[in-house]
Amino acid sequence: MNICEAGDHIVCSSAIYGGTYNLFAHTIRKMGVEATFVEPDVSEEELNAAFKENTKAVFGETISNPSLDVLDFDKFVKAAHEHGVPLIVDNTFATPINCRPFEWGVDIVTHSTTKYMDGHAACVGGAIVDSGNFDWEAHGDKYACLTQPDETYHGVVYTERFGKGAFITKATVQLMRDLGSIQSPQNAFLLNLGLETLHLRMPRHCENAKKVAQYLQNHEKVAWVHTPALEGDKNYELAQKYMPNGTCGVITFGLKGGRDASIKMMDSLKLVAIVTHVADARSCVLHPASHTHRQMNEQELLEAGVQPDLIRFSVGIENADDIIADVEQALANV
Ligand SMILES: *Cc1c(COP(=O)(O)O)cnc(C)c1O
Repeated sequence: MNICEAGDHIVCSSAIYGGTYNLFAHTIRKMGVEATFVEPDVSEEELNAAFKENTKAVFGETISNPSLDVLDFDKFVKAAHEHGVPLIVDNTFATPINCRPFEWGVDIVTHSTTKYMDGHAACVGGAIVDSGNFDWEAHGDKYACLTQPDETYHGVVYTERFGKGAFITKATVQLMRDLGSIQSPQNAFLLNLGLETLHLRMPRHCENAKKVAQYLQNHEKVAWVHTPALEGDKNYELAQKYMPNGTCGVITFGLKGGRDASIKMMDSLKLVAIVTHVADARSCVLHPASHTHRQMNEQELLEAGVQPDLIRFSVGIENADDIIADVEQALANV
């Protein structure tokens, strides 16, 4: 909303959080902003072909929720900059502990602070972090909202007055004023408590997730395990390049018994809770086919990219042996 208006267009990776997909595919479309979705493993040619005269931004997620695809920063940065637009990346799952997208040329980073940053399911929040590196003036006609006077704010020209701070200053003095998207002081306090231990929690999440993934991988009732942290995963090389110290605590897996076995296994868990929330200190699981996507039949599920047996496992920071023991007794019930 800070750089797009009715008649504009964005290019977006299709591997993104469902809420963001709905926002881009439906809600902003009603406001006249159109999105073209591309697969994260799109070729350079196809990616370049997605741009239009009126394209204003490119968007993706460092590690996508829940498909766990890793965004190829080099490919997306190159395409965005060749077309004179910024790359905006949602870094929620990786967090700044495991990935600093600015170092790869990303222009603007967003976070749902509701997840690892808070870490304790205490408060909802979000953040925009502007690198200040995108040269809005070099594409001044495209970004008149930043390079021409804003009559609603004393006729200020954001790029002239605030330089590298143009984008984020407009976001706060104009959009925050008009839309009220601010966090309450109490929630900001809670978020800050979480941030103080983020650097301790993230390595533990990654370590535990890897142990759980390896355990599942060797279990006879498990059909598949997906995490970019495991060698052999289709995103392993990208994860090694952009997140050599670890990815995140979220993994996905499926059982040979399919949908019914997945439900039975989850209902048998004792330590691990069934929760829609994700990326929390406490381990939790979600089975989209019987929860968030339960109105869909098998065919519709597959079209939406949700395998009927897919369990999203958000591995917490408890003792890894305790988590694995819980999974073990639940699988014994299937
Ligand atoms: C949860 C989530 C969001 C939305 O965040 P809320 O704080 O729940 O509004 C956005 N992006 C990603 C990757 C998420 O996991």
